Amino acid sequence: MNIPVEPFKIKMVEPIQLLPREERERWLREAGFNLFKIPAEAVFIDLLTDSGTSAMSDRQWAALMQGDEAYAQSRSFFRFQEVVQSITGLPHVIPAHQGRAAENILFSVLVKPGDVVPNNIHFDTTRANIEYLGATALDCVIDEAYDPYREHPFKGNMDIHKLQQAIRTYGRERIPLVMLTITNNSGGGQPVSMENIRQVSQLCREHRIPFFFDAARFAENSFFIQQREPGYQNKSIADIAREMFSYVDGCTMSAKKDALVNIGGFLALRDDELAQKVKDLLILKEGFPTYGGLAGRDLEAMAAGLQEVVQESYLSHRVAQVAYLGQLLQEKGIPVVKPFGGHAIYVDARALVPHIPQEQFPGQAIVVALYREGGIRAVEIGSLMFARQTEAGNWEFPRMELVRLAIPRRVYTVSHLQFVAQTLGTIQQRAADLKGFRIRSAPPFLRHFTVELEELQ
Ligand SMILES: *Cc1c(COP(=O)(O)O)cnc(C)c1O
Repeated sequence: MNIPVEPFKIKMVEPIQLLPREERERWLREAGFNLFKIPAEAVFIDLLTDSGTSAMSDRQWAALMQGDEAYAQSRSFFRFQEVVQSITGLPHVIPAHQGRAAENILFSVLVKPGDVVPNNIHFDTTRANIEYLGATALDCVIDEAYDPYREHPFKGNMDIHKLQQAIRTYGRERIPLVMLTITNNSGGGQPVSMENIRQVSQLCREHRIPFFFDAARFAENSFFIQQREPGYQNKSIADIAREMFSYVDGCTMSAKKDALVNIGGFLALRDDELAQKVKDLLILKEGFPTYGGLAGRDLEAMAAGLQEVVQESYLSHRVAQVAYLGQLLQEKGIPVVKPFGGHAIYVDARALVPHIPQEQFPGQAIVVALYREGGIRAVEIGSLMFARQTEAGNWEFPRMELVRLAIPRRVYTVSHLQFVAQTLGTIQQRAADLKGFRIRSAPPFLRHFTVELEELQ
């Protein structure tokens, strides 16, 4: 197996420590076995999310010092605008403090009650923003996406027939836009092919429906196209990204992912009239259109991060690092979702602890074991997050019970990943001893953030 050697060296360090086992046990009990409630300082390796957790480069830190904090028309905005325009080719660049703010503003302008918005799979915040406006968020991803072991190079693709069906059923009057999430976060960070993007674009154009990217991981998606799609091997990432964006009318972006910053986001748009409406609303909700809820220095850091994220040396390490963890786990016989995604590895909890039924949260059993054994924080993506009780009182369970190991960008080294794999290996050997959980108290919605649990004996 090739070792993914880091294409950077370390100039500044942040100490981390593995607390003694008794202290970890105490934290678990105090937190009601909910890892969202454990202080970050008590975590050794934090794989909760790749969002806002990137390490910035020396160039980005230097750029921060050059932030122009003028309220209007700051120099930093123009620098940021130029970089986004050069990557996307989209003329209107509108900053927002993070991805969901960009979504909220775009949808508030375009979506009305009763509308339907198709996507490959909506990310939580796009779904919630659409439903909040009284519209329906419709997932149209290819069926392969729901089979954890099915090998498909572009498992994030939109099913064109499902999209056609949606347009036939609801009519273009009720579909104010079509979105495509690149890479498809909720489907395991799986990429979308250029061919698929082109087909969706053409269909949208035929029906005069605006087409947008949820572009949080556009650079990782571009890299997968270069690696996997015929005809793109010799194209640069910048050229591939430029072609992808040439097919859309705009995008929303969470800069906390592929802009390598800790906070930020933006909208990029083609249409003048839409851009004006968005800016008018932005002033109300985020701030003047040249800062959009951010400081000038944040815009500088985003601009520098966007230039770095499209570099091949960065991306080939990034994707190889994630795959390396996947391969280490696979070699140990730990069941993981295939192919490996761009930002995370997903463990199939049902296959690892088949003795724990879905109503006892098998994924959470592994999440707890990871912290107990190695101070590692991961997140359950299964029944704890999604199971719902119907009005008749029956439980509806999700199709998959997964544990996500998200890899922050440029933060952990090969040995950190080896430690994670070794810890999961230990857990696997004693998997039959793991216990399920029961809910002690839970809020009415977004339960997983604050739920408290009890370990069954
Ligand atoms: C993170 C994310 C968002 C939301 O962005 P925030 O910056 O967290 O508000 C939207 N879409 C996708 C695909 C994401 O990964």
